[in-house]
Amino acid sequence: MTNAEWATRGNKVFIGTYSRFPAAMVKGSGCRLWDADGKEYLDFLAGIAVCSLGHCHPAVTEAICRQAGELVHVSNLFHTPPQIRLAELLVNNSFADRVFMCNSGAEANEAAIKLARIHSGEGRYEIISLAGSFHGRTLATVAATGQPRFHQGFEPLPQGFVHAEFGDPRTIEALVSSKTCAILCEPLQGESGVRPLEPEYIRAIRDICDRHGLLLIFDEVQTGLGRTGTLFAHEQLGVTPDIMTLAKALGNGLPLGAMLTTESIAASLTVGTHASTFGGNPVATAAAVEVLTLMLADGFMASIREKSAYFVDKLQGVAVRYPQWATGVRGRGLLLGLMLTDKGIERGAEIVQRMFEEGALINFAGNRVLRFVPPLIVGTAEIDTLVDKLCLVLDRLA
Ligand SMILES: *Cc1c(COP(=O)(O)O)cnc(C)c1O
Repeated sequence: MTNAEWATRGNKVFIGTYSRFPAAMVKGSGCRLWDADGKEYLDFLAGIAVCSLGHCHPAVTEAICRQAGELVHVSNLFHTPPQIRLAELLVNNSFADRVFMCNSGAEANEAAIKLARIHSGEGRYEIISLAGSFHGRTLATVAATGQPRFHQGFEPLPQGFVHAEFGDPRTIEALVSSKTCAILCEPLQGESGVRPLEPEYIRAIRDICDRHGLLLIFDEVQTGLGRTGTLFAHEQLGVTPDIMTLAKALGNGLPLGAMLTTESIAASLTVGTHASTFGGNPVATAAAVEVLTLMLADGFMASIREKSAYFVDKLQGVAVRYPQWATGVRGRGLLLGLMLTDKGIERGAEIVQRMFEEGALINFAGNRVLRFVPPLIVGTAEIDTLVDKLCLVLDRLA
């Protein structure tokens, strides 16, 4: 079966929610993927910041296989060892004392929204999030998402979500009322174009929460788990949230999400108030235990920061060499964006397509920047190859 044959079959049976590259991926290893025609790709998308240890990391694959041979699912009517091990690792390495497990980023945010509401009590249900944010595709998380294009056609959306303009804490404070229970934000907006929140801005948000008795929820679904060069992005900002959500990289590709919080806030979710049939599935959590163990090993986070500095330098070189297309670099760790000129933005989708043809996978985040989210195990030689391909594509763009 070729790419084209797979695409024809797929396009006949799927609801058309995705615009896909014309390739059927059949194999992965480290930072490489292979399609059904045997073409090799250098993967700087990593399943959208998911496969942080690279495709089919041997230790993760082994953990998955071992657990799949022992026990795959029993529901949360029982304890299971991998789920407990993972929760302990998360608690021991974060501000949090308690964890709720689910299967995706949107579900983790749904859990956070429910917790913020039930903890804050009657009449206090409103959550302030930021323009340009992305929090998921369920109805409540779409309502929390500060981008109208995700709302259109799905109204009426669940009530209790308001959006503040990005960048000025006063626009947030102006929205606080007796109904407000929480402020929800990403430490760095990934989907809308790799837009970091400045530390002073985040500290001002924490301060608003403290002065008004609001919960601060960090959506670290994309930024968490080493992506920005520390286990959690907020560690670099000097601000601790009350609730944090994780997902993408947690299972290195197996579906898994988590919502973390402190002892006293967690106490508001009592037996029967929230649940997930699959949440914290033994196979997914066994994979995640391996992921966290590898990420917590000596030197892993430092290696991300080193490679980030190397990559940023290279991308800045691209911006200098192609001022007609690119203006600079932004982001943290290995969540980086090449900012484009207006002319570059017009051609962004085409650049991504041409990179695909050259065997390099990137994307065009928020129709604004070229986003690079390689596996965190990427090597400098792979970064060089990616940048060479990008220069080749930009040379030919003219
Ligand atoms: C990807 C993402 C989500 C949604 O995660 P799903 O697993 O697709 O539901 C939520 N928040 C942020 C910041 C994300 O990047």
